[in-house]
Amino acid sequence: MKTPYGFDCPYFYGDYYRGKKQEECRLIGNQTGSQRWEVRLCENCPVPAIRRANACTFMVLTPVIKKSFLGKRKVTVTAYCQKSESSVKTPEIGCGICHPLDELFTVKK
Ligand code: SF4
Repeated sequence: MKTPYGFDCPYFYGDYYRGKKQEECRLIGNQTGSQRWEVRLCENCPVPAIRRANACTFMVLTPVIKKSFLGKRKVTVTAYCQKSESSVKTPEIGCGICHPLDELFTVKK
């Protein structure tokens, strides 16, 4: 579903039927305290771009809301691959075991 900031996010849910305004992030969920979700976090969230670039079903994203130097809250994400059982450094690319680079793109020695 599209977030109010115009990005398609598989974890965003909004119900605006008959004047309702129920919005939730199904990745972050109903956390409290410093991890409490608010729709403003969608504006600079990296998740929609990651999911656009890499739809791997083995990759699990773990969001953490952090405060920047100026006190602005933002979503940061770590990724883990359940197939290779390792953390994924660049979630947009993935861990590489399902889709290794083609011979055409590798440098021969
Ligand atoms: S905070 Fe990120 S993951 Fe959650 S709904 Fe918004 S864009 Fe999607």
